Amino acid sequence: MNDDRTNTVDISGMLTNSPVIVNQNQDGMQSIADTHIEYAIDESTVRVFPQKPAEKMNGIFVVTVVIASLSVFADMLGVLSYIGIQKGMAILLLGPICLLMALITKKDRWLVSLQADGSAQFSDGLWYEKLPDGNFMSYVKRAKCVYPKCNGLVRIVPAPPRERYNHSLVGKCSVGGIRHTYTVDYNGIGYPREFDWRPLEQEKKA
Ligand SMILES: [Zn+2]
Repeated sequence: MNDDRTNTVDISGMLTNSPVIVNQNQDGMQSIADTHIEYAIDESTVRVFPQKPAEKMNGIFVVTVVIASLSVFADMLGVLSYIGIQKGMAILLLGPICLLMALITKKDRWLVSLQADGSAQFSDGLWYEKLPDGNFMSYVKRAKCVYPKCNGLVRIVPAPPRERYNHSLVGKCSVGGIRHTYTVDYNGIGYPREFDWRPLEQEKKA
C-alpha cells in the first residue's frame, strides 16, 4: 500500500515537472524528450573545389569598384566632360554595374572571406570549409530522425523568422517536415524542439 502511494507520487511529480510540450504528448514527444541527434557529414555530398575561381571573381569585383570610384571622382572634377561624357553619366552607368557585380560575386566574396581554421560556415543548405591547402570543401550534414517509426533524415535549414532571435539554424526531417524538428547546437548536437513556422506577416494582422 505504502509502495503504491510512493509510485503514484513519483509519477505525478515527473509529469508536473516536465515541460508543457511533454504534457501535451503530441507525436510521441514524450518518448523522445530526453534524446538527442548528432549531425554528421554525409560523405556522399563532400565536394572539394579550388579557390582560384572564387579569388578571380573577388578580384573582378574589386577592380569594378575601383574603376567606378575613379570614374565618379573624375566626374565630380569635371574631367569626363572633356572627353564628351556628360556630367552624371558615370554614376548612372556604373552604379547598376557595381550592384550587378556585387550580386554576381556575393558567394565568391563570402568564400574568399572564410578562414582556414577548421570551422565550417553554413550557406544555402551546405557547409563550407576552407582547407589548409587553400581549397574549399562543401558538404551536407545529416542526422537520423528519432521520432518513433520515422525513417527520415534531418537536414539543417535556416530557422523560421519568428525563431531567429534564438536560433539561426534548425534541423528539419525529410519525412516529418516541420512536425519533426530539432535544435542545431554549436557542437553538432540537436534536441527535439517545436518551432513557430508562421510567417511574420500574420503577427501584424493579429
Ligand atoms: Zn522524422
